[in-house]
Amino acid sequence: MTIQQSIPAPPDAAQPAEAAARVTPMMEQYLEIKAANPGLLLFYRMGDFYELFFEDAEIASRALGIMLTKRGKHQGMDIPMCGVPVERSDDYLHRLIALGHRVAVCEQMEDPAAARARGNKSVVRRDVVRLVTPGTLTEDTLLDARTNNYLLAIARARASSGGDRIGLAWIDISTSEFIVTECGTGELAATLSRINPNEVIVTDALYGDPDLGPLLRELPAVTPLTRDVFDSATAERRLCDYFAVATMDGLSAMSRLEATAAAAAVTYIDRTQVGKRPPLSPPSREAAGTTMAIDPATRANLELTRTLSGERRGSLLDAIDRTVTPAGSRLLAQRLAAPLTDSGAIARRLDAIAAFVADSAARDDIRTTLRAAPDMSRALARLSVGRGGPRDIAGLRDGIFAAAAALARLQRLDDPPPEIIAVMDAMRCPSRELAREFERALADQLPLIKRDGGFVREGYEAALDEARNLRDASRLVVAAMQARYADETGVKGLKIRHNNVLGYFVEVTAQHGDRLMAPPLNAIFIHRQTLAGQIRFTTAELGEIEAKIANAGDRALGLELEIFERLCALAMTASEDLRAAAHAFAMLDVATALAKLAVDDNYVRPEVDTSLTFAIEGGRHPVVEQALKRDGQPFIANACDLSPVPPPYPPPQAGEGRVGAGQIWLITGPNMAGKSTFLRQNALIAILAQIGSFVPAARARIGIVDRLFSRVGAADDLARGRSTFMVEMVETAIILNQASERSLVILDEIGRGTATFDGLSIAWAAIEHLHESNRCRALFATHYHELTALSAKLPRLFNATVRVKEWQGDVVFLHEVLPGSADRSYGIQVARLAGLPAPVIARAKSVLAKLEAQDRGQTARALVDDLPLFAVPSRAAAEPAPPSEAEQLIEAVAALHPDEMSPREALEALYALKAKLPSAARSTTARDSSSRR
Ligand code: ADP
Ligand code: MG
Repeated sequence: MTIQQSIPAPPDAAQPAEAAARVTPMMEQYLEIKAANPGLLLFYRMGDFYELFFEDAEIASRALGIMLTKRGKHQGMDIPMCGVPVERSDDYLHRLIALGHRVAVCEQMEDPAAARARGNKSVVRRDVVRLVTPGTLTEDTLLDARTNNYLLAIARARASSGGDRIGLAWIDISTSEFIVTECGTGELAATLSRINPNEVIVTDALYGDPDLGPLLRELPAVTPLTRDVFDSATAERRLCDYFAVATMDGLSAMSRLEATAAAAAVTYIDRTQVGKRPPLSPPSREAAGTTMAIDPATRANLELTRTLSGERRGSLLDAIDRTVTPAGSRLLAQRLAAPLTDSGAIARRLDAIAAFVADSAARDDIRTTLRAAPDMSRALARLSVGRGGPRDIAGLRDGIFAAAAALARLQRLDDPPPEIIAVMDAMRCPSRELAREFERALADQLPLIKRDGGFVREGYEAALDEARNLRDASRLVVAAMQARYADETGVKGLKIRHNNVLGYFVEVTAQHGDRLMAPPLNAIFIHRQTLAGQIRFTTAELGEIEAKIANAGDRALGLELEIFERLCALAMTASEDLRAAAHAFAMLDVATALAKLAVDDNYVRPEVDTSLTFAIEGGRHPVVEQALKRDGQPFIANACDLSPVPPPYPPPQAGEGRVGAGQIWLITGPNMAGKSTFLRQNALIAILAQIGSFVPAARARIGIVDRLFSRVGAADDLARGRSTFMVEMVETAIILNQASERSLVILDEIGRGTATFDGLSIAWAAIEHLHESNRCRALFATHYHELTALSAKLPRLFNATVRVKEWQGDVVFLHEVLPGSADRSYGIQVARLAGLPAPVIARAKSVLAKLEAQDRGQTARALVDDLPLFAVPSRAAAEPAPPSEAEQLIEAVAALHPDEMSPREALEALYALKAKLPSAARSTTARDSSSRR
């Protein structure tokens, strides 16, 4: 979704002069601030409300379902207005952000009294203090505790030879995470779906790019920004400035392109936070190839973090998430989005889980401790930008104590593996003394916000206790005064009350009003207000007491806020230690949670190595298994072996660096037999193994999978205006073009979206291509039984089928995967189970009998013998001829993007072109002269 870019357009300065002259000073201020923040809704603070005007008001009232009113006139027209109370503004912000809006929050920067003192016409000074955008949130109420909230910046470096590079930097300011990486344009879609950003910034040029633009415009909350934000020349300086260092060398090694994206991201954060800089971890660099590449279609099909209908429930993440803290849940989601390709790193994670599988007492103790540990990284982030409250400090206090408790428990493990040792080191860092200070300072019951005070413990600071006593004593005086006034006036129901407008006042019901307004009482009681049922008065005495109470109260509040700032500063000095401890908590949570999952659901430790093995014994589908369990049904475990077949197959390929070739399993069987489940479970087992988790199997050995591809089911993609079949073919094309020996490919019923012979032919050719050219490990489910004939020609193609039993004319699904092939589809039996009317079933049976008489199977077997085997194009033939010099020159000119170039770059490009010219010119002249001859 693209952010609405329109600036609500109040009639502007082009209006006649006398109309313009009627702009009130306040409107003038509003319009100025509004113009400075194009594309954002302006929350304009007026007293206890944020008001919105003009088109903003119309948008917000529609989006929030709040009343649209009017306020005065602007150039002769009513000004539409709506408002949200400041107290509840988080809720409204949340809804606007969720709808893809961005909001500029404009506050009053001085006491209205100060403005009045400047003169009648003076407007209260106001300024935008923050831009609230989907990717730069810190408030708990605006964030989902269990997911990261990323702002992503995307930069591009053009290469004249094509093959542009993309730099990406993503930041979660609510946890300080900051990551950069670089990829080719072909990998962009997979990378984006892995990062899953909440807001994206790109250059204008990239946004409008004919190739990449459509992909980018589909992302959530994309904002195109001007070139200066993505200026590579100033990138390092801006980064140094943000981190307050002289050079980036000490922070992290980044490519120029990564630095460009990183600088754009911090510049945007600077703009949105208006001067407050949330502390960020130094950018960590994700090297290419360190994670399993999973393209968006595969991610969606396998329902890794969300189901196809967009819910978390029913996804793999939901099925395996036994974490007890939000930070742990976020880390698990991160790991699931990016399975590793380094077997050493995977083994380290598995070691930590194994330790907690083996020691269930430690696991339970740690989980109990973790449950009490608050989300320290988000609390820290809020405190650092001045949006924290007393409960955030209490969170740090509890976090530090929890770290100490966890450490003590971990120390009792015998022989902890390296990942747990690293966790223990981090737990040792935060100062216990700091937590004790927080404990001394904070009251037992804490308010949500600091504004009204009441969070500092009694006895913490003498001056505060004194101010509070004075304030409370005066309140007692008021109570005594009420009793005395009631006595003196003879009005039993007389009350002393307080509100923000009148301050303290005396209130009696209307029937007693006259008494107080007549002599002698009117000498004491001064009439202030008459309401329908009550009459209100003040007295001189009440005024004096009020001043005293207000003074003492103000002083107490001032002292509390000072103490808050002090505690906050203390927390900031320890922020690095606290962040490290917070991260260690998350790691510990994930390790113990995955151990719990392994024990509860009977998972085993996979062997993950650098071979091309894929051998699963007794594999299960993690999600389907849990669903069946809830219904008291068993899941039938199945083996799968896609490991390379020992020689004589595959024929060794000299000099191509080929390491072998995996098997392809061709799975046939009727609908509902369990083919799709089997395919997916093997893909999910590979993913789980490579995030360093135990897996639902009796035994699993997996050689690292570099890329996972799947084409499962047939989902229409109407939003992009492509038919099911087109989508299916686009995805299949990606697989056939990109899968390597190291990849794992899952193809479920491809070709189903078209006519039978078309579909069968495409599936046929695709299998041959996978076998001969991609040589990957693959699972291919199909209802084209004819394809099983291919195994006669393709040595590494293995036929498997899901067993069914026919029983009194019905099919019974056994869900057992066995060698062999299905002879029939049982489609009509399944249709009967589904409740198709009996006459339709009977008619279908007779049509089938006729069709079967023609026997397509025979044809296929004959084809296998007749058709020559799929010819693998040699590498050389596949490569296009190198372009001629003239073509090179044209390409070079075409690759120039004048709008994106600085004058200097433009000049350099001219020189480069000129340098290419002599030989190109020679060849032209030569041709010319030959044609003259
Ligand atoms: P197909 O792709 O062959 O049409 P599915 O994989 O969609 O079949 O499976 C259909 C249903 O059968 C699943 O929803 C599940 O409830 C059940 N099922 C599949 N595999 C198993 C299994 N191994 N054990 C138990 N039930 C299974
Ligand atoms: Mg299926």
